[in-house]
Amino acid sequence: MSTEVEVNPKRIPRAVAFNMLQKVAAGGAMLSPQWEPASSHGYVFEQGQDVDDVKLFERYAQILVRHDYLEQRFFDRITRCPACASQHLNLREVCPQCSSAQLSSEALLHHFRCGYVGPSHHFSGKAKDGRVCPKCAGRLENLGVDHDIPGQSLKCGPCQASFQQPPVSGICLSCGLETPSDRLVSEDIYSFCLAPLGREALRQGRLISQRKERVVEEGLPVLRSEVLQNFLFEEHKRATRYGTPFTALIFDIRYLDEAKLNLEREREIVGTLRAMLRNVDLLGRHRSGMLIASLPMTPREMANEVLQRLVAHFEQLTGVQVNAQVLLFDAQVPFEQTIQAAVLKLRSF
Ligand SMILES: [Zn+2]
Ligand SMILES: [Zn+2]
Ligand SMILES: [Zn+2]
Repeated sequence: MSTEVEVNPKRIPRAVAFNMLQKVAAGGAMLSPQWEPASSHGYVFEQGQDVDDVKLFERYAQILVRHDYLEQRFFDRITRCPACASQHLNLREVCPQCSSAQLSSEALLHHFRCGYVGPSHHFSGKAKDGRVCPKCAGRLENLGVDHDIPGQSLKCGPCQASFQQPPVSGICLSCGLETPSDRLVSEDIYSFCLAPLGREALRQGRLISQRKERVVEEGLPVLRSEVLQNFLFEEHKRATRYGTPFTALIFDIRYLDEAKLNLEREREIVGTLRAMLRNVDLLGRHRSGMLIASLPMTPREMANEVLQRLVAHFEQLTGVQVNAQVLLFDAQVPFEQTIQAAVLKLRSF
């Protein structure tokens, strides 16, 4: 069986995928975007890329991320015009009433005696003569004694409105559209770095399928059935050659409430098995609902004892029924046959 590429060749050619890994490696195991104001996309991964090149590069990189060859890291966020996608925007504060950008800053005054707070132009007169409060007509003479300046306020030139927190608006320098900042488009952009599988692919000079290379199942510390089969094959061969005992246990797990059959419950059973088996005993998948624990160097009687202990334990569990059998491998019988016979017996219960 070939361990070649799982990357869908329809979506990324192998040579391109490998080439991309090499590029990331050449960039010090991390390839980051470079700002490129002259490019209409705003950034590039390599000199000379146009918009379509960058988009294709990112699409391919995302495929490699999904297949665990690359990892993505947040690089920055770019803001674009919603009409033409240009990043050439002139952002500035504007008047909330008339949208003019012609704003000036003035001090906010707070009159202690009456509590009035307002921009300085609300107070008549000049600062040096003492301004007059519009609410109580009192004079503001000494800063810090009869009044203070709690902050700044903005004043609009055309409409004279006063406000403290102006909205921000962007004018697109490419198409001229003006857009309030909350309606501008923002896009997260990422750097790409080599994941362990990507490093391994470069070391081996080929792409590796992670699904096939995986030893244990996803989310469960159980050997994948293919891995277990290979292991049993090798162990059976070795035990035959050296005449050492080789046994295993096979478990048929049935959930009484099939609707609740899920990873959580299986993880619980696997956890129990792992805790009760030795470290040298491997636990793997035979098929859905069936697990096999190999017991190297364990003669039949000892295997039976382990089985009794486990069965006693599983009898206490509710909602699940675990039937188990000892697998006694015989040098003259292919190991698959021994397993098949046990499965038939278990399923006939
Ligand atoms: Zn205004
Ligand atoms: Zn006052
Ligand atoms: Zn635009």
